[in-house]
Amino acid sequence: TSRSTSASTARSDALIEHARTVTPGGVNSPVRAFRAVGGTPRFIASAQGPWLTDVDGNRYVDLICSWGPMILGHRHPDVLAAVTAAADKGFSFGTPSENEVALATEIVGRIEPVEQVRLVSSGTEATMSALRLARGATGRSKVVKFAGCYHGHVDALLASAGSGLATFALPDSAGVPASSAGETIVLPYNDVAAVEAAFAEHGDEIACVITEASPGNMGVVPPAPGFTQALRRITREHGALLISDEVMTGFRCSAAGWFGLEGVVPDLFTFGKVMGGGFPAAAFGGRADLMAQLSPDGPVYQAGTLSGNPVATAAGLATLQACTPEVYSHLDQVAHTIADAAHDALSAAGVAHTIQWAGSMFSVFFREGEVRSYDDAQAQDTAAFGRFFNSMLDQGVHLPPSAFEAWFVSASHDDEAVEAVLAALPAAARAASGS
Ligand code: PMP
Repeated sequence: TSRSTSASTARSDALIEHARTVTPGGVNSPVRAFRAVGGTPRFIASAQGPWLTDVDGNRYVDLICSWGPMILGHRHPDVLAAVTAAADKGFSFGTPSENEVALATEIVGRIEPVEQVRLVSSGTEATMSALRLARGATGRSKVVKFAGCYHGHVDALLASAGSGLATFALPDSAGVPASSAGETIVLPYNDVAAVEAAFAEHGDEIACVITEASPGNMGVVPPAPGFTQALRRITREHGALLISDEVMTGFRCSAAGWFGLEGVVPDLFTFGKVMGGGFPAAAFGGRADLMAQLSPDGPVYQAGTLSGNPVATAAGLATLQACTPEVYSHLDQVAHTIADAAHDALSAAGVAHTIQWAGSMFSVFFREGEVRSYDDAQAQDTAAFGRFFNSMLDQGVHLPPSAFEAWFVSASHDDEAVEAVLAALPAAARAASGS
């Protein structure tokens, strides 16, 4: 039985058909095209709290939450008020303004090892800039990344990058010069011996290791106990920097992100998503002596017309300020309620699955057994996920359209929204099983 108000997708069908004539694939970020799951991508017209409404008037419980930023749900009153007030004073000045200092102060106040941040407009820009800073500060060019970790579409970081590439079964992107990819060493995640071996061979050429603080772009694959600590030790021994990418985990896994849970101190952090509250704001930061290498104080150039945008930073600050301890415990509770029910439904339907956690961030792998690496994550029944996804969508629950993503919940997911998810799970699990 369908819980959506109408089965019609006529307007979305017409929009995607037209969109394909003016935009590649009809979308501005590939995973939105539904290629891995089939069917019509829903054009969302408006959203409120945990609910999305599409252009045909169908309502969905939102488990994408804009892929992380909407931690408070849509149109949170405090954030809406902050954005409206900021916009009322002007959209962009290209000069210093107060909101950006307030947001930087909030971030520095939350994450002890972050002494300074530089604000940018996307997670991609944050990791790209952190990489340049690491290379500038060390005078070295090689970069270590882990298979299955996604750090945005930075040339040097697109090898075995999980997420969208995994969804489309692409190993790498075309258009990345060999000279750029050649400086990247890709290692299996959670494999300390592989890191030791890479450093034994190239130790004095490696500028940095970049890792997702707790990976979420191959599904949720937390670091095995001791793995992040080993990265810290090995990089330090060889004079390389450790960059912790907290674009997804930052301000979500805890008030101080994954760092707040694990406590390993990297040299640089990258942030995005939650800290922009749904607007384009991201950051990279760390020790003041390292950050002093950046323009205008130091030789590493980095800039942005819209960096520190007053409306985006107002949204980010209001979002962080509303992320109270109650918000985090609510996220935890909602996530566990939904994950438990998904486990029960999939078990009852005999569908192989594993659920993994990083704080309140979780994902459902459509395979049996622990997932510790990208190879493990890729051994999923993506066809079963596709059937599951489409059944959920038909019943009014919008999951991320990829088997390699976390299910994102928000502070606004109330009993009604959670009940709607729970009601949809059994039929979706049966669809996944193929029966
Ligand atoms: N790093 C991580 C860990 C991410 O999850 C993402 C986005 N999914 C990025 C970087 C890139 O951020 P953006 O899409 O804002 O460029």
